[in-house]
Amino acid sequence: TEISCNLLPRSRRLLLLLNPFGGKGNALQWCQNHILPMITEADVSFNLIQTERQNHARELVQSISLDEWDGIVVISGDGLLHEVINGLMERPDWEEAVKIPLGILPCGSGNAVAAAINCSAGFEQVLGQELLTNCTLLLCHGAVSPLDLVSITTASGTRVFSFLSVAWGFISDVDIESEKYRHMGPARFTVGTVVRLVSLNTYRGRLSYLPAPDCAAHRPILRSITVAANGSLPFQHLPLHRTVSDMGLCEERQAFCFHEMESAEEPTPSPSSPSSSSSFHASSFSFETLSEVVVDKRPQHTDLPKVLPNRLPSAQQMHGPLDDFLAPLEQPVPKSWVTVEDDFVLVLAIYQTHLGADLFTMPTACFNDGLIHLCFVKAGISRAALIRLFLAMEKGTHFEQESPYCVHLPVRAFRIEPLTQKGIITIDGERVEYGPIQGQIHHGIANLVTG
Ligand code: ADP
Ligand code: MG
Repeated sequence: TEISCNLLPRSRRLLLLLNPFGGKGNALQWCQNHILPMITEADVSFNLIQTERQNHARELVQSISLDEWDGIVVISGDGLLHEVINGLMERPDWEEAVKIPLGILPCGSGNAVAAAINCSAGFEQVLGQELLTNCTLLLCHGAVSPLDLVSITTASGTRVFSFLSVAWGFISDVDIESEKYRHMGPARFTVGTVVRLVSLNTYRGRLSYLPAPDCAAHRPILRSITVAANGSLPFQHLPLHRTVSDMGLCEERQAFCFHEMESAEEPTPSPSSPSSSSSFHASSFSFETLSEVVVDKRPQHTDLPKVLPNRLPSAQQMHGPLDDFLAPLEQPVPKSWVTVEDDFVLVLAIYQTHLGADLFTMPTACFNDGLIHLCFVKAGISRAALIRLFLAMEKGTHFEQESPYCVHLPVRAFRIEPLTQKGIITIDGERVEYGPIQGQIHHGIANLVTG
């Protein structure tokens, strides 16, 4: 009998987009010497396209036929991934389009997402070619994880989708001012940080946010996990050690990344409930010390106050998901939000573990935890404390310092209203117009190749 070719697993087809000017400008060389040999070995077929200008990748992904590809991989920094995601979200078929697995092979100066992938795979924090090799290996392995995106609206009504961060103050100043040291590669951020520390600015503004439910405590240490059972499983207690390992939680990191994680194993039936089930989801959690897991059938997010859709500007509803937590920027924030007015050294909304390859800024973050980690440092912090903070960030130990000037809040949505006239705001490290800006999480709407 004949064996049909259709029965054989066909090799994955990847669209590789390379920015020849990313980082120190050696992306093409690294691609030829390191990436292509590895992915060829892994039986991945590919088309390699070099971007010719800014927004080239963004336009390209708007028109390509997505059935032809098993994934889109950027060989560059975070900037090119930002273009690709936004190009996909601008398509009429955005909802399907943004589900295409996205990969990143770090050849830029800002390689935060690559560092986050490397970290979540359990590799040691590395830089440069080592990071590239790890990420190429993970890409060849090919496992995909849902990725949260944050929908950001600026004063002019522009809406963009962000996968990394919104920054105002110290961090965005360093990011943009250090562009002139681009030839140094990632070292530009270190030099930029020192320069900024010498002439430290503070910014007055209003910061508003919608706290994430069950996240009243700021200390990111897990206490209990509320698990939503599938189907008709009655309420029951699960042994935590097992649940933790089933869900792939790394205990030392005390991460709280349980949303929509499934276990193929059956939970151990407790005396109160003889039934068993094939899988369960974690839906919410609180912090303190590790203690117990409680099964809860509440659907996710239903307890959150939402803004009525008719209050949203019509332009927002044309493409992309509805920003149901946000009121229009020219209106006050919804009543359930919290507002603080203060002088800030920095405000940072981050949704990945890393802000750069050696900045382990938010160790508790997760690709699809449904959370925006809102951080701010208030004016009054000493330069010495700020230096300590940034030095400790390499290892991710900065939260141990417990400075009263530093605040971290898990939120679903936020608004920044600068009162200081001049400043820099960045989205995913790219400068945007300065002024009021707000955003909300869209849980797991994209897919990232995490290996
Ligand atoms: P880096 O991390 O080094 O900044 P990125 O991937 O973030 O690298 O790219 C930086 C910027 O370069 C992005 O804003 C991207 O849009 C832009 N870009 C992409 N391709 C080109 C090109 N061929 N020429 C100039 N700019 C480009
Ligand atoms: Mg996240």
